[in-house]
Amino acid sequence: MAISVKVLDRPHPETTSYLRASLKGMALTFRHIARRKVTQQYPEDQTDLSPRWRGTHRMEVHADGRPKCVACGLCPTGGPANCIRLVGGEDDQGNRYPVVYEIDEFRCIFCGMCQEVCPVEAIHVGRHFENAEYTRDRFVYDLDRLMEQEHPATLLWDPSDPRSE
Ligand code: SF4
Ligand code: SF4
Repeated sequence: MAISVKVLDRPHPETTSYLRASLKGMALTFRHIARRKVTQQYPEDQTDLSPRWRGTHRMEVHADGRPKCVACGLCPTGGPANCIRLVGGEDDQGNRYPVVYEIDEFRCIFCGMCQEVCPVEAIHVGRHFENAEYTRDRFVYDLDRLMEQEHPATLLWDPSDPRSE
């Protein structure tokens, strides 16, 4: 493709009114001063996230501090991004529990499938997004870290608003 160069003439001081251009610019500024401000002073001001916001995961815990996960294997199998690592174990009473449970929040595509398939409502995507880190490995959340999360869980489907309107 041929590249053409357009040469622009320099504005001539005798025929160009810088005063008019400055006044036009100031008029524009003053018009905006009177308008309602839309800028938000984050992080001091924060808007409520949508109840369907899908962010950082959280693991629900029993009253005695044990994770609710029963290591059934559905979420690592059903999730499309291969970002959940689960190693299951069994206690003396035959109860299954996660020995290792990790989610790579960097690989996750926040589809919410893990939350949907979990038979005991243990794992949830959450209404939370402030999880910036300096190193990539910090985005792999282990079980303890998932259990520490306190943000609200996401409402994946609202029966009162089935079409998300
Ligand atoms: S939300 Fe993330 S972790 Fe859960 S199934 Fe989807 S990709 Fe996997
Ligand atoms: S689906 Fe639920 S119970 Fe099953 S492994 Fe995942 S978090 Fe644990």
